[in-house]
Amino acid sequence: MDNCLFCKIIKGEIPANLIYEDDLAIAFEDINPQAPVHFLVIPKEHIVSLDNVDENKKLLLGHLLLIASKLAKEKGLEEGYRVVNNCGIDGGQTVDHLHFHILGKRKMLWPPG
Ligand code: AMP
Ligand code: ZN
Repeated sequence: MDNCLFCKIIKGEIPANLIYEDDLAIAFEDINPQAPVHFLVIPKEHIVSLDNVDENKKLLLGHLLLIASKLAKEKGLEEGYRVVNNCGIDGGQTVDHLHFHILGKRKMLWPPG
């Protein structure tokens, strides 16, 4: 997608603090961190949201969560962390390219606002 911020990060057209890359996905630090550790895991394929996946994306979705788990270990989040997916308007999604937030190194509140 030409106008997608995260596609531009994938293509290297916009800088980001990349912490992981493979054929299918990248992970990078969130520009506006909501916790001492806050990074995003995204597919390289432009998928708008979790509302835009089907059976064909099953392996990719599992891959993204495994990356989240591995990077959380690398970041030393042994006390735990939160994985968030904001989906659509009610979910508070602001960038229309599927992404998982991983937040750690502070106690998270529940329920979310
Ligand atoms: P969401 O509200 O779930 O769609 O999350 C979008 C996230 O992308 C927010 O946490 C933003 O801080 C983050 N974000 C926006 N622009 C950038 C950027 N250029 N680099 C890194 N993170 C970004
Ligand atoms: Zn995109």
